[in-house]
Amino acid sequence: MSKPEKFFDENGLRLDGRRVDEIRPMKIEVGVLSRADGSCYLEWGNNKVLAGVFGPRELHPRRMQRPDTAIVRYRYNMAAFSVEDRIRPGPNRRSTEISKVSREAFEPVVLTHLYPSAVIDVFAEVLQADAGTRTAAINAAAIALADAGIPMKGLVSACAVGKVDGKLVLDLGKDEDNYGDADLPVAMTQDGDVTLIQMDGNFTQDEFKEAMELVKVGCKQILEIQREALKGKFSQSETEEIENEAVIEAPAPEVEKAENEKVVETEDDEMVEVETEDDETVEVETEDDETVEVETEDDETVEVETEDDETVEVETEDDETVEVETYDEEVVETEIIETEEDNENVGNVVMEDDENDKEPDENIDEDIGKGETNE
Ligand code: UDP
Repeated sequence: MSKPEKFFDENGLRLDGRRVDEIRPMKIEVGVLSRADGSCYLEWGNNKVLAGVFGPRELHPRRMQRPDTAIVRYRYNMAAFSVEDRIRPGPNRRSTEISKVSREAFEPVVLTHLYPSAVIDVFAEVLQADAGTRTAAINAAAIALADAGIPMKGLVSACAVGKVDGKLVLDLGKDEDNYGDADLPVAMTQDGDVTLIQMDGNFTQDEFKEAMELVKVGCKQILEIQREALKGKFSQSETEEIENEAVIEAPAPEVEKAENEKVVETEDDEMVEVETEDDETVEVETEDDETVEVETEDDETVEVETEDDETVEVETEDDETVEVETYDEEVVETEIIETEEDNENVGNVVMEDDENDKEPDENIDEDIGKGETNE
């Protein structure tokens, strides 16, 4: 790649068509790594960065622990294939420096005192580099930290400002970075407090002041994008939760409750409502709105028909337990509850996945017509 002849067109637009105060398009995906506590994939122009956060977790070796606070570790790494000329894998001077300053960029916002002796690990992997990777990594790391639920005073947003052909430009592109006159990467809190500042090249004092104003605008725009990404993720999960809650908390259809109504809990924590409507019929209602009708044929045997046309038989084996077997060999055990009025057998219904030895059909044949009483 060689130095471009000019960096601005006749309209003052940059090589990629941006205005001097315009950042490259940014796309953020939150929560992309299932094994990380928090994660983020960020594209910024042609940069592609993945950030993962692990922790807070106990720090080993223990002698490294700080009894009053958590420590934050930050590893910036460029994949060997992320640049035009393959780079040697593993840490180098540049990545060690970037890791250090990036960790420090989060120091003022992460509430580390809440996690004494712990460590919060941040990994930023640059998959594709196109200038501004340290700032891209910080933006992704901030989201990953938030995604991990790490308490912070606020987000951190980062952007670079530079000088090209004597003009200040926001968010340097690759050519601008390589052949420009100055590069000033900055990270700041949402309150505008600078947490990282580095400089390559020279600015006059006035240029520097102007550059800081410009980069503030860039960071604000990025903060908005970060917030939107997080809102997108968390409002979505809230909606899902509400939907789930709605399913869980959907009230059971209103039924006239008899005195002897029982609410029982099955082994798998499913709630089952059992209500005797009269001496002969009981209704069993599961939380998932499945209704099972139990009809007593006589004092000993009842037939249960589930909504999906599955038929189960309820038979009193002794005074306390009845066994219900569906055609698909699901076993339902019920415990007889003696009602105040008539000693009608309704039950504590316990669903089990156990297989019953008997053939269902045999059971039905046997069960019907068994004349055992439970009284
Ligand atoms: N770069 C590269 N090889 C390297 C380091 C950097 O090709 O070993 C490229 C890469 O595209 C990077 C750009 O040079 O984004 C600018 O690097 P710099 O050190 O200024 O850091 P950055 O701007 O990425 O934070």
